[in-house]
Amino acid sequence: MIQAVKGTKDILPDTVNNWYFFEGTFRKSSAKFGYRELRTPIFEKTEVFSRSIGDNTDIVNKEMYTFLDKSGESITLRPEMTAALVRSVLQNSMLHDQPLLRLWYFGPFFRYERPQKGRLRQFHQYGAECLGSAYPESDVEVILLANNIIASLGIPKYKLFLNSLGNEASRINYKDKLISFLKDNNEKLSYDSRMRLEANPLRILDSKDEGDLEVLAHAPVITDYLDHESRSHFETVKSFLSDSGIEYEIQPRLVRGLDYYSHTVFEFQSSYLGAQDSFGGGGRYDGLFEQLGSKRTPAVGFAFGVERLMLILEALNNTPEDYYKCDLYMINLSPEAYAISMKIAGDLRNKGMNVMLDLLKRSFKSQIREANKLGAKWTIIIGEDEINSGTAIVKNMNDGEQIHHEINDLVNLDFNTL
Ligand code: AMP
Repeated sequence: MIQAVKGTKDILPDTVNNWYFFEGTFRKSSAKFGYRELRTPIFEKTEVFSRSIGDNTDIVNKEMYTFLDKSGESITLRPEMTAALVRSVLQNSMLHDQPLLRLWYFGPFFRYERPQKGRLRQFHQYGAECLGSAYPESDVEVILLANNIIASLGIPKYKLFLNSLGNEASRINYKDKLISFLKDNNEKLSYDSRMRLEANPLRILDSKDEGDLEVLAHAPVITDYLDHESRSHFETVKSFLSDSGIEYEIQPRLVRGLDYYSHTVFEFQSSYLGAQDSFGGGGRYDGLFEQLGSKRTPAVGFAFGVERLMLILEALNNTPEDYYKCDLYMINLSPEAYAISMKIAGDLRNKGMNVMLDLLKRSFKSQIREANKLGAKWTIIIGEDEINSGTAIVKNMNDGEQIHHEINDLVNLDFNTL
């Protein structure tokens, strides 16, 4: 039998309710903050990602699904959204007639990673981006939106880690200090980190290697190298977060994987997840528009990993309302009864009820069993006797109470009073 590609998953009807719950929450929370949805193609020209994410990042180096299409053009399945979103904003001149743009997105993303719990090759992200404002208030707004979503999903405990990478001047200054410190400890670093030393030293701070961690424990931290502007930006973010009752922890080694971040970076972690405990993160990326060939445009945003949010929801045993709940099951016991049931089912569906009926000409007992299995709130039973008397049996499946009601008037029955 042909199996799905490694690291990909079918979303089965049993779990699709969770997805609707997530999608509904994303839509509602985004609207509360004035963010509108943007949908872009699932693939882009490769340079959209290679020019923005950074040549020395894992994503661009190892993880992109890149192929030549039939015309020989290099195409990449999107590994993340921010670069594609900026491409779309520029192409559609979305910032021409307004100085500030609030956008959100949801959809599948693709990275060739080693699959494990919480790590897939096709996964989903929700994200939001606030484009056009350099003020720390917009960093705060996107974190508040993220927090609103987490609360609306019913996730009680999580950690928000916060750091500042400062402006470019601060980062250059810090990078020099970091490189010289790491060079002094070169022989204790892992092979990967030694390779990154010149090209992308900040990424070494992300390392999980034990030897690296020992060295990093004594490394200079970026927050000590922030200039006045960077420091003041970070202080404002922290103070507004505190004013909003948002708890955070400063994590001076948090740099996040991508090259385009500046100033605020943040990450959400949950103890309900295993080794892959980060369920989202983001930051400010004031330089990305320039990298993609446009004028400098400040921006900040974040993304959640939806499968990881889903794992938290499962660990909490939270089951959202069943979208497919069966309100009414119509038990029909003859071809004539089926014809009548079909008509009534149509009328009641038009009134907004979910109505199902037997298609296998099963016995009364089997149909009742099926109604129970589907969790039907009510059943209507129509057989020969009911057709002769013109009244159907209406049964409340919760308490077993049943009444007789005129078949021609079933459409007017208020089931909630039964
Ligand atoms: P990133 O775009 O790398 O900042 O990731 C943002 C969030 O997406 C992470 O915190 C994860 O929750 C999720 N994520 C990233 N990569 C994967 C993956 N391969 N499988 C599942 N979730 C992922």
